[in-house]
Amino acid sequence: MICLEVWINNFFIKEVGLTKWEITFDGITYECINCGYCCSCKDWRIYLSYFDALKLKEYAEYIEKTGDINELGFTKRLKINKRGCVFLNKDKLCNIQIEKGYDFKPTMCKLFPFSFMVKWNGDLLLIIKHYCNGIKKGKCDDKIIKHAIECCEELYLDELDKIRLIGMESSAKTRLNKDTLITWEEREELGRYIFDSSNLDELSEKCWELLKLNISKETIHMHNNIHKLNLKSEIFIKNEKEIIRYLGELNKREHFRKLNFKKEICYLINIGKELSKYPNVFRGEGIIDSKILNYNIR
Ligand code: SF4
Ligand code: SF4
Repeated sequence: MICLEVWINNFFIKEVGLTKWEITFDGITYECINCGYCCSCKDWRIYLSYFDALKLKEYAEYIEKTGDINELGFTKRLKINKRGCVFLNKDKLCNIQIEKGYDFKPTMCKLFPFSFMVKWNGDLLLIIKHYCNGIKKGKCDDKIIKHAIECCEELYLDELDKIRLIGMESSAKTRLNKDTLITWEEREELGRYIFDSSNLDELSEKCWELLKLNISKETIHMHNNIHKLNLKSEIFIKNEKEIIRYLGELNKREHFRKLNFKKEICYLINIGKELSKYPNVFRGEGIIDSKILNYNIR
């Protein structure tokens, strides 16, 4: 299989066969601090690949069938108890890792805090979950990224092509606003241009220039409520760079691509407004990320 790795426009692209991976989280680092949060199985479960189940056959009593075949093709998962995963011990460490070593851990555990989404053209977007407590610690070098991509490929195997086909856009064009059609490439460029801003003034100017969107005056309908954007008066200026970076990351992840681009920008700015309420911006990102990833789009 041909494997090609390159950096294009500051985006790390890994090409395996016909699959391209794009990294969505510039400037974010990660190191596990063994807090055990991801093992608490609060809003998720640990599903096992075919090979995970083989490796863990001597732990059969801690594994259960999912009942129906899970939408991603998984038929087995780890059992849980009050603490979360049955393998999480009192010291918040993984008993599989202690007894057997890192390689024996389920691929889904090795993949966390990374995951992926499908880009409009079927390429894959590697994302990082900001609610991991190790975010903004350590580093996030090529080795870590490669490991995450390998885990995704191992976990989803043949399903990856199916997931890509389901997740990509069938329409050749998207909407800039309710009246104007643009290509997906143009939309992507516009998003990069807006969130490449180094401060809020620059971002506001670009929103006006491209979309005639005055972010201190517009209103937006979200969840049956009307919100006034007015980002500038409310944002916690000291965090503006971090907030813009996070909004740019959400834009790259294409959470809101079903909306027209102007509406997407309104939504993102409203998220920025929400984020500005948290003095610790990374904590805020974690809370927002958890809501977006666990409830809204999956
Ligand atoms: S939540 Fe993050 S830091 Fe905590 S144990 Fe999981 S991977 Fe490590
Ligand atoms: S198997 Fe280990 S790493 Fe995975 S959720 Fe359970 S305790 Fe955590």
